[in-house]
Amino acid sequence: MISKLLIANRGEIALRIIRACRELGVKTTAVYSEADEQSLHVQLADEAICIGPALASESYLRQDRILAAAELADVDAIHPGYGFLSENAAFAEKCEACNIRFVGPKHQSIRQMGHKSTARALAQKIGVPIIPGSDGPVDSPEAAVSIAQKIGFPVIVKAAAGGGGKGMRVAHNAVSLQRDLLIAQAEAQKSFGNAEVYIEKYIEEPRHIEIQILADSHGKRIHLGERDCSVQRRHQKLIEEAPSPFLTEDLRQKMGQAALKVAHAVDYENAGTVEFLVDKNGDFFFIEMNTRIQVEHGVTEEVTGVDLVKEQILIASGLHLEYDQSDIRILRHAIECRVCAEDPARDFAPSPGLITLYTVPGGHGIRVDSHIYAGYRVPPYYDSMISKIIATGRNRTVALDRMYRALSECLIHGIKTTIPFSRAIFQDPVFREGRATTGYIQDFMSRVRL
Ligand code: ADP
Repeated sequence: MISKLLIANRGEIALRIIRACRELGVKTTAVYSEADEQSLHVQLADEAICIGPALASESYLRQDRILAAAELADVDAIHPGYGFLSENAAFAEKCEACNIRFVGPKHQSIRQMGHKSTARALAQKIGVPIIPGSDGPVDSPEAAVSIAQKIGFPVIVKAAAGGGGKGMRVAHNAVSLQRDLLIAQAEAQKSFGNAEVYIEKYIEEPRHIEIQILADSHGKRIHLGERDCSVQRRHQKLIEEAPSPFLTEDLRQKMGQAALKVAHAVDYENAGTVEFLVDKNGDFFFIEMNTRIQVEHGVTEEVTGVDLVKEQILIASGLHLEYDQSDIRILRHAIECRVCAEDPARDFAPSPGLITLYTVPGGHGIRVDSHIYAGYRVPPYYDSMISKIIATGRNRTVALDRMYRALSECLIHGIKTTIPFSRAIFQDPVFREGRATTGYIQDFMSRVRL
């Protein structure tokens, strides 16, 4: 069993990992940048080591410094959380070489799934449906147009090494496609250090539905049902829920089996998520696999009762998964709302700064995963998400009403947040009726004045 673990992350996910470790009796080492000295993860871990200046490229992304900290602290495992180094196959490989367990899949699985166009090819090979598009990366505007003419416009150009909704462009005709290809390649190079892009048919108004997987190192793999993450702004998730208001039991089973097939094909171990788009007819298509814990994992925890982060640590310790597929029952409804330090009135511009007052929502069925407190200064250097509120109820309506109530009692003064925007969504009939697709936020913003 892992006895001491280093958390190579910050913010709410660092706290989430500390909590799981405490309950398991695992000692924790936090790492932090100079900008995060006052952070809760630094205060709550058993020990903390500063790994550099504020910029992530000088701290949370510095593999050498994190591995040096791990040596210094004499830990036997590293949990990467999400973002930063969590899907970096080379880092996972280095951990292994240093005899430190990486809490995640084997580096080979990360590598296979990290390149989205290769992952697509693999899904196709094993008979999991993919969206019509290019076979592998596309490098010239002429090749892009020829593929688009074959599959039909509109098409979406996506970065092969992409993530976080960045580097995607929708093209409606050959002229814009030629331009978008070049822009997407430049963006991909800048953001991900890899200019490769590929093309998919653009599905109109799909739902984003993903399946949570758990797999131990002894070959046992189960899925924990779906999360519906269709409410997105610029391809970034805002609200996630389980179960999906759209899925039938039949479709749930089929998608669960398809996700397990993907996990099986890459000999997957630990927690992971297989993402799909589902069209109006209920046809589903693989888009990618995230080989790490996801921001929205708490929704699945609330409806299944399974502590995913604890399971990750137990699996990395080499223990057998205690759950069978038949143990996973979804008996409640849970919904998560991401709270970001952004100003909805100024096109969601980042709003870092000092939090002067903070009231934490609570009461029956409310869980808040957050690293903020009154007196905390939100730094401008990292992701703007400052809190995740999760509401759970015996059905969707109860969960939605509970979330609206929780958002109303969450006061954060000193900075602007997305709470007023989210409150309006929870009152919107289209969302309440479970009709939101990935085009929902754009439509909502054109209809509703905030
Ligand atoms: P990332 O890794 O950046 O999150 P994904 O491939 O997971 O990128 O896609 C993110 C979101 O972009 C999807 O949830 C969906 O809203 C949109 N998207 C991606 N591919 C398509 C497509 N072929 N058609 C329509 N929307 C798409």
